[in-house]
Amino acid sequence: MRILILLAIGLLLYLIFRNLYRRIKSEKQIEQAEKMVRCEQCGLHLLEQEAIQKNQHFFCTTEHLEAYQQQK
Ligand SMILES: [Zn+2]
Repeated sequence: MRILILLAIGLLLYLIFRNLYRRIKSEKQIEQAEKMVRCEQCGLHLLEQEAIQKNQHFFCTTEHLEAYQQQK
């Protein structure tokens, strides 16, 4: 009977750790999923959330956005 309790505890611990491991792993994946975009003007790579977006294009600064628009 004792072995069954040990097995049950072992299984429970296994499930808890597996769950925890998966959560840590998925958080890491989210971090890595932060998209990098390229400034259309100077080619600088930066995070999408830090970039200035305009008509499907990304820019590192508003100056580059304006410069890019003036080129057209
Ligand atoms: Zn730029």
